[in-house]
Amino acid sequence: MTGFLNKLYISGSWRGASDGATFEVMNPADETVLTRVASGTVEDAMACLDAAESALADWAARSPRERGEVLRRAFELFNDRIEDIARLITLENGKAGADAMGEAKYAGEFFRWYAEEAVRAEGYLGLAPATGARILVHQKPAGIAVLVTPWNYPAAMGTRKIAPALAAGCPVVIKPASETPLTMLALMPILEEAGVPPGVVNVLPSRSSGAVVGAMLADSRVRVVSFTGSTEVGRKLLHAAADNVVNPAMELGGNAPFIVCKDASIESAAEGLMVAKMRNLGEACTAANRIYVHEDIEKPFIECFTHKMAALKMGNGLEDGVDVGPLVNAETRDKVDHFVRDAVEKGAEVYLGGVRPNGPGFFYPPTVLVNVPDTADCINDEIFGPVAAIQKFRDEDEIIARANATEYGLVAYLYTRDMARGMKLSEQLEFGMIGLNRGLVSDPAAPFGGVKQSGLGREGGKEGLREFQETQYIATEW
Ligand code: NAD
Repeated sequence: MTGFLNKLYISGSWRGASDGATFEVMNPADETVLTRVASGTVEDAMACLDAAESALADWAARSPRERGEVLRRAFELFNDRIEDIARLITLENGKAGADAMGEAKYAGEFFRWYAEEAVRAEGYLGLAPATGARILVHQKPAGIAVLVTPWNYPAAMGTRKIAPALAAGCPVVIKPASETPLTMLALMPILEEAGVPPGVVNVLPSRSSGAVVGAMLADSRVRVVSFTGSTEVGRKLLHAAADNVVNPAMELGGNAPFIVCKDASIESAAEGLMVAKMRNLGEACTAANRIYVHEDIEKPFIECFTHKMAALKMGNGLEDGVDVGPLVNAETRDKVDHFVRDAVEKGAEVYLGGVRPNGPGFFYPPTVLVNVPDTADCINDEIFGPVAAIQKFRDEDEIIARANATEYGLVAYLYTRDMARGMKLSEQLEFGMIGLNRGLVSDPAAPFGGVKQSGLGREGGKEGLREFQETQYIATEW
């Protein structure tokens, strides 16, 4: 099939892999092959670094305003083509049209936000207390960055890294997920037209992720590795980064609690849970994974939420009116199916869904499980699918301890009408982000990221730029 950009993008030109290898990209809605994509080798990875190295001095020396204006044009061009981008996201990832458009808008906003941040250069002049010598502090581009992204947001996980890197003055090599490399490749003509010079952004799809990323991290030209994906792979990259003391930015897994207090508005908490659970089909690191509802309101809450879940339409994400597309691949679908069977075997009740449909397509229906025991696998692992696992609780101290009883610390959600209590409980939650009476925390203007095994560093906001900068201090006498 033609019509897809499916080669490596290095130094502003398209080329096949050095050994001619390719891999398949599939449409998860019907299991057909969309296209074959060049599979980058270690030799290609080195060509990417050569390209980035050649581009570094010029890009780093451009004025902040100039870099900002390139990003602003990228935002505008991205929006002009947003329908095509959203369609491509659905084709390779499966997510429904509204989810794909939601992602595309979010993805494009990183260009706008970092176009604006590019010119907010931070620094200061201080005086040494003992001598009165000048302490001059400013930020410099960190250097070449390697970016590695997952399949669940084929556009946004890339733009959330590319935009701040470019704003800071860093050239990048991005390795998109093998399930969904097409969206990132389709972004390249937009960046070219926006004025990004050859070599500043290079895209290296590859089936041999470990080999190509490992080779780049072993090269002393690389100064930053920014990774989004599983904690397991993140740990490996942290080990690899240690050898060359490369700056790591890690956005890893999550296991988000969603707490509904006794005094919460049932309607708004159920609406918030629809977003926190079903946005992106549950295939999100921010997805509500453990849902704790106060026992006094458990029944009406479950009724209200199940009613909303039952109204969702499942089907090919390209069709109008579809809310729930297929999961990305058979492995993810089978894992979701396992979580449901396991929970039921351990005593959970199925209020909705819970039956895996026959193919083609990796579909799984919206599912509501109640009375899920703490021992169920879905409580202890990321579900990454449209399954809501509900548990009840009695007292608030107990629920905070249960919510914190995980190695992850990305995001927690809390619903209460009492804001003083909401603030107090938010502070006790050991998570990098809290949705307090909100089911959505992601915002380009806010620092996204986790604590504990959920990662290091932040993306978005002012903080996102700092991941691609180095602080320099100049001691001077005037
Ligand atoms: P993954 O860790 O399997 O893969 C992520 C990326 O790493 C892909 O590009 C993959 O090809 C690459 N990769 C795999 N093995 C590698 C290796 N040995 N060396 C170098 N690169 C390697 O994750 P996934 O299945 O694509 O995505 C799902 C995971 O991502 C979930 O755990 C989810 O929570 C997490 N995630 C986190 C965030 C966040 O911001 N915290 C956002 C989205 C997804």
